[in-house]
Amino acid sequence: MLNKSLPNGLRKASLGAVTAVTVSIISITSSPVMAGTGVSWKDLQNDHKTTDDVLMYGLGLKAQRHSSLNQINSKNVGKLRPKWSFSFGDEKQRGQEGQALIHDGVIYMTASYSRMFALDAKTGKKLWQYTARLPEDIRPCCDVVNRGAAIYGDKVFMGLLDASVVALNKKTGEVVWKEKFGDHTAGYTMTGAPFIVKDKKTGKVMLIHGSSGDEFGVVGKLFARDVDTGKELWMRPFVEGHMGKLNGADSTTTGNPKAPSWPDGDYKGTGKVEAWSHGGGAPWQTATFDEETNTIVIGTGNPAPWNTWKRTGPDKDPRNWDSLYTSGQAYIEPSTGELVGFFQHTPNDAWDYSGNNEIILFEYKDPKSGKMVKAGAHADRNGFLFITDREKLAKRGVKEANKPTSLLKVWPFVPSITWAKGWDLKTGRPIVDFDQYPPEPAPGEKQGKKIQVTPNFLGGKNWNPMSYHPDTGLFYIPSNHWSEDYWTENVTYKKGAAYLGQGFRIHKQFDDHIGSLKAMDPLTGKTIWEHREKLPLWAGTLTTKGNLVFTGTSDGYVKAFNAKNGKELWSFQTGSGVVSVPVTWEMDGKQYIGIGSGYGGAVPLWGGDVADLTKPVSQGGSFWVFEIPKEVAAVESGKEVAAK
Ligand code: CA
Ligand code: CA
Repeated sequence: MLNKSLPNGLRKASLGAVTAVTVSIISITSSPVMAGTGVSWKDLQNDHKTTDDVLMYGLGLKAQRHSSLNQINSKNVGKLRPKWSFSFGDEKQRGQEGQALIHDGVIYMTASYSRMFALDAKTGKKLWQYTARLPEDIRPCCDVVNRGAAIYGDKVFMGLLDASVVALNKKTGEVVWKEKFGDHTAGYTMTGAPFIVKDKKTGKVMLIHGSSGDEFGVVGKLFARDVDTGKELWMRPFVEGHMGKLNGADSTTTGNPKAPSWPDGDYKGTGKVEAWSHGGGAPWQTATFDEETNTIVIGTGNPAPWNTWKRTGPDKDPRNWDSLYTSGQAYIEPSTGELVGFFQHTPNDAWDYSGNNEIILFEYKDPKSGKMVKAGAHADRNGFLFITDREKLAKRGVKEANKPTSLLKVWPFVPSITWAKGWDLKTGRPIVDFDQYPPEPAPGEKQGKKIQVTPNFLGGKNWNPMSYHPDTGLFYIPSNHWSEDYWTENVTYKKGAAYLGQGFRIHKQFDDHIGSLKAMDPLTGKTIWEHREKLPLWAGTLTTKGNLVFTGTSDGYVKAFNAKNGKELWSFQTGSGVVSVPVTWEMDGKQYIGIGSGYGGAVPLWGGDVADLTKPVSQGGSFWVFEIPKEVAAVESGKEVAAK
């Protein structure tokens, strides 16, 4: 019954506070920090190299979340102190999952309930605030979070919980355009950061964004918009056989128009089963962009409903029905929105593993051939780290989906995975344990037999992004070790209601920890070091040239680790749980670290026994900036080079 209580539980937990929200825009245009120029495509292309700004979610087109700054490093990070803190204010708190953008001395930070703040990076003074006017009946599945903004020209862009995207004047916070992309009463919403892409073929700069809503049975779609007007350029759905759009007209169906990966039926005259008509696949996280092949890369969400049997044909073998193009990584042509490549992490996903987690683009030298390989790295909720051949995936067409040639390596990154015994590299498919599909209810029963599954649906790793360090060649994965009881329930689609057909109870896998920050070698699958946390890890990671990894913990700390050996070198208590994504930048020759604090997200709403564990964590909503103050550097440093 847990699934049925979801919308009510959520309404109690978060939606009730939305009622009194009004639009408030405070604009201060006289500040000297506002006198800068617009952000160009070249600025975005170079974001990973430039240290005085943070212009993209992921700190660059490849989303490696690495900075070449090394003024703060493994020798002096212990001297890091807070410089200022800003409170998001209001009675609206809950999860703060945003990653800040920084341009021209201004920090653009999004916050819960679809808010954005522009702050003077030097002082924390508020320059303006945008608060969306949200209707009462929004349906965010997993807290009222927002993960960040995009910036281009003179505008900043963000997604809103009422299934719209807004462009704001970056100097004043005034709305330039606002476009609704879905029916929020059906469960469409947006929590992820949008992304800017320039199509090599047409030279067009566009805003790329997806939607959330798989738990309500939406059809997941990716959109491209004109940055100046917000007009939709194309739309690509991720349920096989659904029609895409280009310039306002129907374009092509996604994959095979007959949708052979979904069973036939007779649902309201569509010739398809109910599930196909509401099939999920929502790309709710942020894309990356492979400039060389001119391809957008994005993860797709779980199929809807969760209950496998609703998406399995008369042979009753879920392994023969993949529910394409859900729970995988999709490669999209930016001119037309065509799906040009796909690899599925969890075919016929019966566990809500989803495929949304970021796909970091990186290169490595193949030890055998000595050739440079252009790869994508993705740590999935299903517990496996996938290294894929992004060149092949961008070129060879969706008919080749799931062929083994696109999968270079796959490694488990959490212990005791139960749903699959491993991966068959010859077929490119998981070796699924049939007993791990939660069985159908017996005739006359409301619930199926309870089984135990590891990892649980919140995953070996959830949305909170990992990072890559080009010097160590390692990925820094904020993972979790946990399990769940899982059982099926009967379900029929009802607009606006949870569409799961599955019940669950999340529990611990080990007594002493859930969170596990690990440094993993993508070529060998070896864990080089691990740091454990009692509570789940729900914050992203950042690496720096200073041999550091930064992240946050659910019990309120911001922490820094030695990237090579995992030693914890520094921590600071922020007063609420940290579930956001750290950034670093340089201002007047000095390096700073910035991160949001404020506990929430999916764990306290869905986490069963683990949610109980997080109850003592205070709510909050603030942004913190850290530096090594001149006097601390001077007094304690001895021979070390003092921070300027
Ligand atoms: Ca930059
Ligand atoms: Ca989901």
